Amino acid sequence: MITIQEKLPGDSSAPNPAVFRLRNVSCHFESIEAITGLNLEIGRGEKVALVGPSGAGKSTLIRLLNGSLAPTQGDVEVFGRSLARLSARQRRPIQRQIGTLYQQFHLVNNLAVIHNINAGRLGSWSLLKAMVSLIWPLETQIAAETLAQVGIPEKLYERTATLSGGQQQRVAIARVLVQNPDVILADEPIASIDPERSREMMNLLRDLSGKGKTLIVSLHAIEFAFSHFDRIIGLRAGRLLFDAVPREVTPAMIQALYRLT
Ligand code: ADP
Repeated sequence: MITIQEKLPGDSSAPNPAVFRLRNVSCHFESIEAITGLNLEIGRGEKVALVGPSGAGKSTLIRLLNGSLAPTQGDVEVFGRSLARLSARQRRPIQRQIGTLYQQFHLVNNLAVIHNINAGRLGSWSLLKAMVSLIWPLETQIAAETLAQVGIPEKLYERTATLSGGQQQRVAIARVLVQNPDVILADEPIASIDPERSREMMNLLRDLSGKGKTLIVSLHAIEFAFSHFDRIIGLRAGRLLFDAVPREVTPAMIQALYRLT
């Protein structure tokens, strides 16, 4: 494993506290080792690309980070709290600070865009408010402003099914943004879109996550890792192969990451 980090979050010289700390984390699905012996720290505000071939364990790592999956071994600490030691109720406010963008969007196509965006706020709304909002949408201004941020303000009351794939992707980003999380995780957000839209998507994610938010994006292809991130983590067969700033990632490291055998 190669580790080239100018400023590790755990260093005394690095002022940003760790948002995620993984200690010797493994995750097995029956006989499959999706993640093996992973040690990792990611600090506040870092922009991290997770790269590696299909099956490397990127999605599994994203799910371990947002707590939707528990490790088979080891410890996942989020904002200084070990997730395994918390009850579901104690975990909720922590998970509310983590917004996840999934490849499949997970939008309800029959609902208007505004309802899908407001779904990002359900974690902080009462049940009554959530139910009322399904009939009379609440906090429309925040939803409208967020939709404008992602570039499609005119779609607020349209049925989500009528939107193009690219527009639906923007709605999915807006839903994460209204949650106003400290951390944005995105699982292969450009896996199934064309190169032009891919760049737009990566620009949006980078710009909207701003300075303060931590952004962690898994990518099958490595090109955007160099242009849009300040740290690249290479995963292969569930193991950390390298963890480096972009300019330190060499062609030999990339070759080792994607080699066929
Ligand atoms: P990546 O996102 O890098 O493509 P994944 O994290 O999806 O990799 O998968 C890593 C490995 O774990 C693969 O071999 C995959 O088949 C396996 N895997 C992932 N999720 C499951 C699951 N729910 N059940 C069984 N195997 C799984």
